[in-house]
Amino acid sequence: MTRATRVTLRLTGVVAATLLFVTIPSTPAVGGAALPVGAWESAARSWAWPVAPPWRVTSAFEAPATRFSAGHRGIDLAARAGDVVVAPADGVVSFVGRVVDRGVVSLAHAGELMSSFEPVESALAEGQEVRKGEQIGILGSGGHCDGACLHFGVRLRGEYVSPMLYLGGVPRAVLLPLRWFEDTR
Ligand SMILES: [Zn+2]
Repeated sequence: MTRATRVTLRLTGVVAATLLFVTIPSTPAVGGAALPVGAWESAARSWAWPVAPPWRVTSAFEAPATRFSAGHRGIDLAARAGDVVVAPADGVVSFVGRVVDRGVVSLAHAGELMSSFEPVESALAEGQEVRKGEQIGILGSGGHCDGACLHFGVRLRGEYVSPMLYLGGVPRAVLLPLRWFEDTR
């Protein structure tokens, strides 16, 4: 493949992604995408916010163009060190420990969804069940939030998606990026 071809293909991908983003119907289409509609609709907008209100998103989700490229693989919610962090949905602790300079907690949920939180200090153990709204730890320090926010990430079948898709009280428009992400990966 020549360099020109590669550039053209890349541009085509960008244009296709842009078109998908703006032409997505407000309800998920059946067929085409690998995502079973019911699986995520059952979780959509039913999760609890992991910190107490008032909620303020200090940094939005930014889907990485590829698995390895830059982006913001979650949202940052304003919070202070010591604030209680709760499970957004029923689940099982799949990871608790330190990653570089911060505590990280990851939960596995129904529908092949995973949530993760940092920086969080937690007394939970891997394999432990948690219920929606149950405390999973307190906000710690380190990472890009470093005691000023909670980084909240969600993966659907291993792919990062916006946590806003699952939180209640947000505009319908924020549901669009999930379809975009599924259709273009
Ligand atoms: Zn973040």
